[in-house]
Amino acid sequence: ESVVLLLLAFLPSGLTIPDPRQREALMQLEASMQTGGQTVLTDAELQLDTLLFKMKQEEMLRADFPPAMHFFKARHLIRTSPIFSLLQKMPKGGALHVHDFSMVDVEWLVKNATYRPHCYMCLTDNQSIRFIFSSRRPRPLSHCSPWNLLETVRAKMVNTTELDNSIMANLTLFTHQDPATVYPSQDVVWDRFEQIFLALWGLVTYAPVFRDYYYQGLTEIYTDNAMYLELRALLPEIYELDGSTHDTAWTLKTYQEVTRQFRADHPDFFGARIIFTVHRGVNISVMTDAVEEAMKLRRDFPEFLAGFDLVGREDKGRPLWYFRDALSLPVERGVTLPFFFHAGETDFQDRGQRPRPAPAGGQLSFHQFHHLFIYHCNIIDLLNKPCVINRLL
Ligand SMILES: [Zn+2]
Repeated sequence: ESVVLLLLAFLPSGLTIPDPRQREALMQLEASMQTGGQTVLTDAELQLDTLLFKMKQEEMLRADFPPAMHFFKARHLIRTSPIFSLLQKMPKGGALHVHDFSMVDVEWLVKNATYRPHCYMCLTDNQSIRFIFSSRRPRPLSHCSPWNLLETVRAKMVNTTELDNSIMANLTLFTHQDPATVYPSQDVVWDRFEQIFLALWGLVTYAPVFRDYYYQGLTEIYTDNAMYLELRALLPEIYELDGSTHDTAWTLKTYQEVTRQFRADHPDFFGARIIFTVHRGVNISVMTDAVEEAMKLRRDFPEFLAGFDLVGREDKGRPLWYFRDALSLPVERGVTLPFFFHAGETDFQDRGQRPRPAPAGGQLSFHQFHHLFIYHCNIIDLLNKPCVINRLL
C-alpha cells in the first residue's frame, strides 16, 4: 500500500509535459560550458559564424565529403575547399607539434634546395634517394648507386619536370595509387616514412639549405596565420661544402638566429622555441648522453630551448619506462628540463608507451585523437594538457 501511495505522490509531475523553459535553460547552460561558450560574439563575428555554418552545410551535402575519405584522396578536395581557405586565413595561436624534417613543402626542397650547385644524388637498393652537397666528388655510399651531380643530369635533359616530380614523389608518402594497396600495413608505411627522413637528411643538414629551409618553414607557418611555433628538432650535425661539420649547440644557435631574423622581418610573429628530440631507437647510453646534452643546452639557451622529447615509432620503439634512469637525471640533479612527450601514436596500450610512467611528467601531444580516447586517455590528465594534431601528414 505504501508503494502505491508513493507512486501517486509522483504521478502529477509524471503526467505533465516537462517545463520547456527548464529545458531551454539546461541547453543554454550546456552551450555555455563548451569551449568559447562564455564568449559573446560581435555583429561581425555573428555574420562570419553564419557564413561558416552555411559553408559547412554546403560542403557536407557534396558527394565527396573530405573527412569521410582517406586523406590522400581528400587532399585535393581540401585544398580547393572554400572552408579550408577561410580557415587558413584565420588566426591560430601556436603550432605546437611540428617536426624539423617535415616542416617545409617538398616542392620547395626540390625546386630550391636540389637546384643549388654541388648537389649530388644517388639511388638506394630499396628505391629511396640520398643527397649530399660537396665541393669534391663525394665518396661512394654503400647500398647506393654512384653519385650523380644533379646540375649535370639536368643539363642533359630537355625537360626536367619528370625528374623533379620523381624526386618529389620520393620525399613524401603521398601516392596517386590506392593508399591501402601501396601501404598495406603499419610496418610498410613506417619503413617508407623513415626512408623519407633519410632521403631528406643530406639536403636539409647542408648549412646554407638548413638556414633557408627553417626560414621557409617559419614562412609557411606564418602564411597559415599561426603566431608561434614549437619545433621538435633532432639538432643534427650540420655540414659545409668542404665536409666540415658543426655541433649540436651550433645548430640550436642557428635556429635561434634565424628565428630572430624572421621576427625582425615579421614583427607580428610571436616567435619559436625548440624541443630537442632523440630517436627512441637508441640505447640507454646514447639516451643518457642526449639528456646530459639537453640539460646543458637548456642551461645555455634557457629561453629558446623549451624541453625534450623522443621521436620514432612508438609501438615498435622503446617505451619511456625503458629510459627511466636517463629521463630521471634532471630531477635527480635539480635541473629543470621540461618533457613534451609524444603519446597516443600506438595501438598497444600496455607496452609502457603511455605517458604516465614517465618521471617528472611533462606536456603531451597527440597525433591521433581516436587512439587517445580509446586507448590512452586519463581524461582529466588530458584536459589539462595542450592537445594538438600533427600537421605532418
Ligand atoms: Zn610527432
